[in-house]
Amino acid sequence: MVSERPLRLAITATGLDKGALDAEQFLEIDEEARVVRGKGLPSAETGLHLAIVGARGAGAVLHTHSMWSTLLSESFAANGAVPLEGFEMLKGLTGVRTHEHKEILPIFENSQDIDQLAEHVEVLLKRDPALHGFLIRRHGLYTWGRDLAEAKRHVEVLEFLLQLLGRSKSGV
Ligand SMILES: [Zn+2]
Repeated sequence: MVSERPLRLAITATGLDKGALDAEQFLEIDEEARVVRGKGLPSAETGLHLAIVGARGAGAVLHTHSMWSTLLSESFAANGAVPLEGFEMLKGLTGVRTHEHKEILPIFENSQDIDQLAEHVEVLLKRDPALHGFLIRRHGLYTWGRDLAEAKRHVEVLEFLLQLLGRSKSGV
């Protein structure tokens, strides 16, 4: 987040190689997803980022299309969530103090109707303040933090635990 009042969010333009980003490639948008600085179209999923900022007051939102988040969002779809429980790495999530914690990653159906998806996400995030992230089915992981460092740590922790769970289920 660039500023809170008025809300200004830095977001990547759509279609860029995320491995080769520099400051030029970030757009600045307002709370209606209008570009106020920079060139290009904001990410197609801007509405989701804004919903998370709105529901959680997050300073940074990160999203991955990783192999394990995609795979487990499908294999746990019937349960509606992926449970992550009993691992020391859970303590990397802000507010979690013991490995005995049970973290739930809810799974939303994927949709090209981002506004509707964002509405569902906002309702759930407001209802359950303990969540640190969620999955979109056959798509990927969303997580957030009060700043970029915290959001990055949450990506690392959740991706690690998803990989661990996926590999233990498949025996590899
Ligand atoms: Zn995506």
